[in-house]
Amino acid sequence: MEGASGRCCISQLAASVAEIMGIAPPQCAQPPMDCLLEKAKAVLEGRKAQRVLLYNPDAIALWLYAQYTAVFFPVMLRSSLAVPLLSVMPSVTPVCFASMYTGAEPSVHGIQTYTKPVLKTDTLFDALLREGKRPAIVCTEGDSISRIFLERDMDYFFYTTPEACNGKAKELIQRNEHDLICVYNGNYDAAMHRYSPEGTEALAQLAANAADYAALVDCARQAWAGYDCFLGFCPDHGCHAIDGGLGSHGLDMPEDMEIIHFYDFQSRRESKA
Ligand SMILES: [Zn+2]
Repeated sequence: MEGASGRCCISQLAASVAEIMGIAPPQCAQPPMDCLLEKAKAVLEGRKAQRVLLYNPDAIALWLYAQYTAVFFPVMLRSSLAVPLLSVMPSVTPVCFASMYTGAEPSVHGIQTYTKPVLKTDTLFDALLREGKRPAIVCTEGDSISRIFLERDMDYFFYTTPEACNGKAKELIQRNEHDLICVYNGNYDAAMHRYSPEGTEALAQLAANAADYAALVDCARQAWAGYDCFLGFCPDHGCHAIDGGLGSHGLDMPEDMEIIHFYDFQSRRESKA
């Protein structure tokens, strides 16, 4: 508690996942989240997670959870830990996901504006590859995640719609060939920019994100029943309404900076032989 605000930051997820999986963290990663490691230890009884699903919906703010709690029921019911987190500045997608997966501040990883260069900074994906693990990214072509983590010797699956991404993610979970699967859905973000954060269109996409995460978790619980697992609903930044009712983000304000992640662990079950 010395001096620090005590708030967790999205930059702490990379080292947390690395520790949960029993690998060395990315080189510039901030320290892991103690609560997450404690929970992992308790549920997995000291073992390391062998399978990880990280679902990355775009622009899901903490205030949305407070305001539209019922929409989050499918996520809440599949989570044993909810952690309020601060995003990083500027609170835009490539900056935030770069911090989430390098574990580093924007000044360290170098993406400090809305640009999508290939990251040279060490990422969680690189850390996994060094240990012989197989990560996969499933996302929409052209989005931030589809660009900034390129040029690694890993599997990338790019589609034009979130539906196609989620269908592929489900298939990958069932094929059981990857240690970590990262899935990105930008449909709430798109609807909130085009209409408004609390408009019917955006809230429908928020509900879709919650339902799609629930379906992926249910799929993973079955397909990965024999493995120790870590599952996470992990948005990048929040959003706020601007003049005309449209949505935006990128500022250093609570609506944009405060988010919440939902996590769960599943302990492996011995298969009945
Ligand atoms: Zn975003």
